[in-house]
Amino acid sequence: MPESESGLHELFGKAAARAAEYRDSLGKRRVGAAKSFAEVRADFHRPLGQKGRPADEVIDELATLAEGGLVSTAGPRYFGFVVGGALPAASAADILAVGWDQNGWNSVLSPTAAAAEDAAGEWLKDLLGIPATASVGFVTGAQAANTVGLTAARHHVLKNVGWDVEKDGLAGAPRVRILAGDERHATIDRSLRLLGFGSDSLELVRSKANGEIDLDDLRTRLAWHEGPLIVCLQAGNVNTGASDALGEACELVHEYGGWVHVDGAFGLWAAASPTHRHQVAGVELADSWGCDGHKWLNLPYDSGFVFCAHPESHAAALGYSASYLVSSGAPEPGDYVMESSRRARGLAVWAGLQELGRDGVAHLVDRCCTLAKSLADQLTAAGYEVANEVVLNQILVSFGTDTETDRVIAANQSNGTSWMGGTTWHSKRYMRISISNHQTTPTDLTRTIEALQTITH
Ligand SMILES: *Cc1c(COP(=O)(O)O)cnc(C)c1O
Repeated sequence: MPESESGLHELFGKAAARAAEYRDSLGKRRVGAAKSFAEVRADFHRPLGQKGRPADEVIDELATLAEGGLVSTAGPRYFGFVVGGALPAASAADILAVGWDQNGWNSVLSPTAAAAEDAAGEWLKDLLGIPATASVGFVTGAQAANTVGLTAARHHVLKNVGWDVEKDGLAGAPRVRILAGDERHATIDRSLRLLGFGSDSLELVRSKANGEIDLDDLRTRLAWHEGPLIVCLQAGNVNTGASDALGEACELVHEYGGWVHVDGAFGLWAAASPTHRHQVAGVELADSWGCDGHKWLNLPYDSGFVFCAHPESHAAALGYSASYLVSSGAPEPGDYVMESSRRARGLAVWAGLQELGRDGVAHLVDRCCTLAKSLADQLTAAGYEVANEVVLNQILVSFGTDTETDRVIAANQSNGTSWMGGTTWHSKRYMRISISNHQTTPTDLTRTIEALQTITH
């Protein structure tokens, strides 16, 4: 590599090489961190010197300090939460986005950032079965997507009854009725709180055995309803992977003039697979959708998407203008998200989708689902209890009593072959397994099962 006067060639080259070495070692490393948080914190804490230091020295030291506290979440045997491992082209594109130091706020600050989002947004809608006319915002993740989607909903349903919530706020506003399944993700509650709807304003709809909403309960609750209405549905329950009956629920809610927001952080990707698409049938009927790039699509972190079937409500609720802004008159990327300045997130999305292609996205979904079914079968064969119907990529497994399950979870985490967390489902403790990584193979499942058997026998 040629040496540059600024030293940037060497510096960036070294950083990229260290990251690549680490990523190449993921299959062999222990999955959990080698050091505790307390140890790593002690390494990081030091006085901030009065004088600065050379950049290459800082980066060498940072990389050394960081090493022990890194978790192999990007690797093939990390099955905790719902996380993927960033695709090569997507990771490299993010390195470029940071190296180029582009601001994704609008098309004036970076035509490139805005154009990449524009193109990737079209592909995403097509893959996820969302109407081509929907607006798209590139946000930090599904939490932000849910917040933005519900902000657009709040605007829309109140405008329909003649209330301008952006101008007059919620004090004295007509009451907005908000329903969600009792198995909704906790980020829905936080989004509603941030929007000024108290947590008590949420009315919970019963769910069925595998976590999907009970349509009969929704129907009963909505009977005779009048007035502003928002219903939050879900594609992909975080414990079981189950999706609500989106099509039927949307039709029902629309009979009452309501707005449907779908939290599809990872489950919405079922739409990209011809084999699993039926699980989110009718998804196109919703009014807003939240989805993650950094989970099942295997993009780098800080990548989520919000889509809205009513672009004018989306922009009216989120956009702002000030006299110093250059505006083409058309909404800009910054009018569909909460952030102003931000990283050019669209570059990694563009690159990741080009790397996979349409078949690659479908294959990623199918492959993870096939591995999940296979692992569930192997767990059952080994004598453990799988609690959920494995419809997607999530598995809940018990090892007997709650105490024994928690013991196995802890022992497995310290063993380091794989990493899974615990969850409580229908009042019982389970190990939760999520298969969301494009690199996971049947051999990784075998190694995982063998380590579990050593712990339980
Ligand atoms: C992960 C998840 C979220 C939150 O997503 P972030 O990307 O972490 O903000 C919301 N809803 C569901 C169903 C999820 O699985």
